[in-house]
Amino acid sequence: SPLLEVRDLGKTYGNIIALSGVSTVVEAGSVTCVLGDNGAGKSTLIKILAGVHQHDEGALLFDGTPIWFSGPRDALDRGIATVHQDLALVPLMSVWRNFFLGNEPTKGFGPFRRFDVAAAKETTRAELAAMGIDIRDPDQPIGQLSGGERQSVAIARAVHFGARVLILDEPTSALGVRQAGVVLRYIAQARARGLAVVFITHNPHHAYPIGDRFLVLKRGRSLGNFTKADLTRDE
Ligand code: ADP
Ligand code: ADP
Repeated sequence: SPLLEVRDLGKTYGNIIALSGVSTVVEAGSVTCVLGDNGAGKSTLIKILAGVHQHDEGALLFDGTPIWFSGPRDALDRGIATVHQDLALVPLMSVWRNFFLGNEPTKGFGPFRRFDVAAAKETTRAELAAMGIDIRDPDQPIGQLSGGERQSVAIARAVHFGARVLILDEPTSALGVRQAGVVLRYIAQARARGLAVVFITHNPHHAYPIGDRFLVLKRGRSLGNFTKADLTRDE
């Protein structure tokens, strides 16, 4: 069964219907793209998947079981990580410190417990290299990296710390063609490592090359939920 399933999901804010009757699935090792213009309901869907809001109709299934997250921490603890467009990265801080932000490795015990800097730097370098990004100097401030590389570090961090579902909120929208290409290659790497990826974008040209499934929203309703095979079938 799919890792994540959205079944006839609905959400209203007062009398505004933000989502209604929306369904899709997100399998491990695949990319589900969520497409739609402003007001389509993309942010609302992300917020439900990430535990920020709860749905008020339909069901959200995780590993085949209906679930309501009690909050963002609950969703994260279950392996659902969200990477936002405005990354939770600190520009003047080094690449490796950003990579471990909130997850500092330690060595030693009790009063001798301390941050293992050498291990953290090596892990950062190796994890980024494994996903095709060559960071020569993990000590450089992350603000010196390109936008695409910063997005990639944020994705690598989520993968390294055990995410099973990766929700990417418009990761390519603020980037130029080349930088968007860097991030798209990175998303493909995350899929190859078995993550279930939800890729939110308003740009079909970014979604099409790497999407396995496409959910198209308009004003909170589903215009379609296609697989790549549906789109490329001859008749
Ligand atoms: P998108 O991310 O695709 O632009 P949203 O999920 O942000 O779409 O918005 C869907 C609809 O819900 C819009 O009409 C928006 O104005 C409305 N909406 C979103 N968040 C709220 C909120 N917190 N309170 C009231 N209305 C909201
Ligand atoms: P995003 O770029 O994430 O779609 P928005 O600009 O749509 O952000 O919304 C910013 C915040 O305001 C979000 O938390 C959203 O839920 C909320 N919001 C959006 N539309 C409305 C609305 N009509 N009324 C109240 N809050 C809204």
